[in-house]
Amino acid sequence: MNILILNSGSSSIKFQLIEMPSEALICSGLIERIGNDDAVLNYKTTSTSIKQTDAIKTHNEGLQKIVELLLDPEKGVIKSTDVIKIVGHRVVHGGNSFSSTTLITDEVKKDIQKYAALAPLHNPGNLQGILVAEAFFPLAKQVAVFDTAFHRTIPEKASKYAIPNELYEEQGIQLYGFHGTSHQYVSEKAIEYLKLKTSKIISIHLGNGCSMTAIKDGKSIDHSLGFTPSNGLIMGTRSGDIDHGIIYHLVHNLGYTVEKVKDVLTNKSGMLGLTGFGDLRDIEAEAEKGNSNCILALEMNAYRIKKYIGAYVSTMNGLDAIIFTAGIGENSSVIRRLACTDMDFFGIELDEAKNELKSKELREINTKNSKVKVLVIPTNEELEIAKQAYQLLY
Ligand code: ADP
Repeated sequence: MNILILNSGSSSIKFQLIEMPSEALICSGLIERIGNDDAVLNYKTTSTSIKQTDAIKTHNEGLQKIVELLLDPEKGVIKSTDVIKIVGHRVVHGGNSFSSTTLITDEVKKDIQKYAALAPLHNPGNLQGILVAEAFFPLAKQVAVFDTAFHRTIPEKASKYAIPNELYEEQGIQLYGFHGTSHQYVSEKAIEYLKLKTSKIISIHLGNGCSMTAIKDGKSIDHSLGFTPSNGLIMGTRSGDIDHGIIYHLVHNLGYTVEKVKDVLTNKSGMLGLTGFGDLRDIEAEAEKGNSNCILALEMNAYRIKKYIGAYVSTMNGLDAIIFTAGIGENSSVIRRLACTDMDFFGIELDEAKNELKSKELREINTKNSKVKVLVIPTNEELEIAKQAYQLLY
């Protein structure tokens, strides 16, 4: 059976067609810059690879292009849209309402809209994707997989903030967590690979957004992002943890508007703010040349990861494995090395040579004697969405 996976952002649609239960990838692609005359469409099957620039003004036009490609007599992979039985949607914020994968109804759509207030950059695009998919695939079941769902098992002592109770009870201000689909996918892979019956795992997702999760016996019990995807690790353009007193200082003493504070902390901070570069590859190249800002930024980045490892080891009272995943986690041997240096007290010992090996497969990069396994596991959020949608309905 064919499942279409859609990850719709505010100006992008990422898609994959996956056959279940074989998990075979039939085709994949991405449209970026929706809303512009020069939107870019990438599409790949086992025999075709296309990149084209086109005017794609709306999500509706974007999905129209995708459907045309899927049905194309030469480059396409299906004969009729009816063969797509399920459309699985990534939805970033499910608030308190969704602790698992859900069949989309009018009520569910209303909730996704409601939680747009908590994820303004993501939920509106996700909902837009659902609405256009319903029109193009009227016979398919539409399923939502929420990034927040995996973290609903975090106990209150970790998910509540120490602020007045009514803000939690009446306004829902608490840790929700993000990247749940990725943390769930890689931690399940690790448990399977290590054949663990009980498990204490720290999953480290390092992409443009970065987060860490403490996962005990397959369940998220603590996580570094919070009410919004701002907390915790140093990210591409986001600061991660800061003293919130800085916000009042910026507003009251330095005359920043609240909007400007948000822009600075969300879009101009993190690795970009520290170095002038948003892409870690550029920062590593500059650090090689001796750029002291870049060297320090890499050290700061790894230091923050180490602090969270320490916190989560104490939270779980032990550790079987740490996992590096996503663009930086899978590719940056530098960040992995810095984050695992001088961690032998915790039983983490990196094999430098294995760390340098490039591969797209799950791999173990610890020394033979390391008590804790250090794994690099390529994440696959789309496959996880397909698995969960399939399990829900079959
Ligand atoms: P997103 O969070 O948008 O899904 P990704 O998981 O694709 O992001 O990660 C993007 C990040 O991965 C970028 O900061 C990029 O610099 C980094 N990255 C990708 N390839 C490499 C590499 N070979 N070495 C270091 N960093 C890399």
